[in-house]
Amino acid sequence: MPVCGGLTVLRRITFKKSGLYWGELCSIDAVIFQVMVVHPSGTTLRRSFMKPILSAAAAALTVAIAASFAAPSPDAPAPATAVAAPARMEATLFKNVRILKSAGGELSAVCHVLVRGNRIEKISDQPIPLENPDKILAIDGTGKTLMPGLIDNHVHLFMAANSQAELMHPLATFEKLEAKAVEEAGRILMRGFTSVRDVGGPVFGIKRLIDSGKAPGPRIYPSGAMISQTSGHGDFRTPQDRSRRFGGTMTAGELMGVGFIADGRDEVLTATRENLRAGACQIKVMAGGGAASAYDPLDVTQYTLDEMKAAVEAADDWGTYVTVHAYTPKAVRRSIEAGVKCIEHGQLLDEDSMRLLAEHDVWLSLQTLEEAPATAPPDTRAKKHTVVQGTDNAFKWARKHHVKIAWGTDLMFIPAQMKNQNTDIPKLLQWFTSGEALKMVTHDNAALLALSGPRNPYPGKLGVVEEGALADLILVQGNPVAVLNLVADPDKNFLVIMKDGVIHKDQLK
Ligand SMILES: [Zn+2]
Repeated sequence: MPVCGGLTVLRRITFKKSGLYWGELCSIDAVIFQVMVVHPSGTTLRRSFMKPILSAAAAALTVAIAASFAAPSPDAPAPATAVAAPARMEATLFKNVRILKSAGGELSAVCHVLVRGNRIEKISDQPIPLENPDKILAIDGTGKTLMPGLIDNHVHLFMAANSQAELMHPLATFEKLEAKAVEEAGRILMRGFTSVRDVGGPVFGIKRLIDSGKAPGPRIYPSGAMISQTSGHGDFRTPQDRSRRFGGTMTAGELMGVGFIADGRDEVLTATRENLRAGACQIKVMAGGGAASAYDPLDVTQYTLDEMKAAVEAADDWGTYVTVHAYTPKAVRRSIEAGVKCIEHGQLLDEDSMRLLAEHDVWLSLQTLEEAPATAPPDTRAKKHTVVQGTDNAFKWARKHHVKIAWGTDLMFIPAQMKNQNTDIPKLLQWFTSGEALKMVTHDNAALLALSGPRNPYPGKLGVVEEGALADLILVQGNPVAVLNLVADPDKNFLVIMKDGVIHKDQLK
């Protein structure tokens, strides 16, 4: 059934998986063409383009656009994942548990916690009387700890779930790559992570799918496409690609929503507003050199003060904030001056700049990074090594000067490494007590999520076990304050995982 009517069909695309999604590139005349995609609901989505375009480029563009139309939506069928459907009861009662207190560092006396809907309704040291005990799922938590769900504040879900080879593969489609990211989201939840802040990449469709209950996964605080200057940390063009301003075209990464290459106040404003329009909770800007990018040495500073201010102004007008990728004192100082509220990384900061972060109440989102793999180009390995070496000072000085520290993993391109989300947590013992580390990956990380203010898609308290808070909970076998390593093996030690009041794992059944 052609959807182009009487128009010339230039190319037809049928997505392998189900045949439900298919589309056609149709020429209307020499300067207008349309992409039409049929959705499973029967609706036809169209997008028209006004530019003449070479046929080879048209074919590539069609694949990208049609694939983006075919992104999972709340109406689309959920992709199959290994995770069983969550159990729903009228309420859940955790009996005889000890709670990880939000201040961290200690457990409560034995108590009882009642969850109704998506909130923690009551916490009591006395048994909680129930009206309809048959409709309440009672879980005996004797000898176990009830703690808030974990939060990873530096995730790139789309790039984490796919290897670089998969992302660059000529036959890669957005649909295939996104399907892998949806599956990874399910695994992230099974690791006990009930919220993640995605600091760059196309995850709006995945977030909708998870929020509508059609796929398991964490709450996602998306940033949308990373905003980078030409030659910056988000410039992943090949050396042959030319700038759009000098005859080049948008790259596949830009078309998929991985990043924007934006120069000058106007383009930065547009890129920021495009992300906000799509539902970004916060904005991610590249403010300095990076290890994974090809053209920018670590020491370079990216974006002029005015360009950076443009992003901050547009974000601030939406009640939210800008977070930047930056390692060096110069990049961080300029970002602070522009009004940026959070620094991602900061491993190459000096002590004075660390003090400045504290004075300006700016968050530092840190990671315990690993060296680049041996397969990485020598230049990348050398850059990564410099950053890894700075990690010790960054944590030490941030702690000493009472900088607000958030924690994340920043894992990308090596899907098998995603298990490090859990094993990275005990590494914090180099600088913090187990209580402080647990507080950081729950309570403190939740405070950074809340900085998105009115753009927070999940209003309510996260990262704490308190009456009225959102019910994101993990029942841990044993006491993670005494043995932080328990969080490194979620398969074994996380007996129950609940998100938004729904149980996604129950090993006690
Ligand atoms: Zn990152």
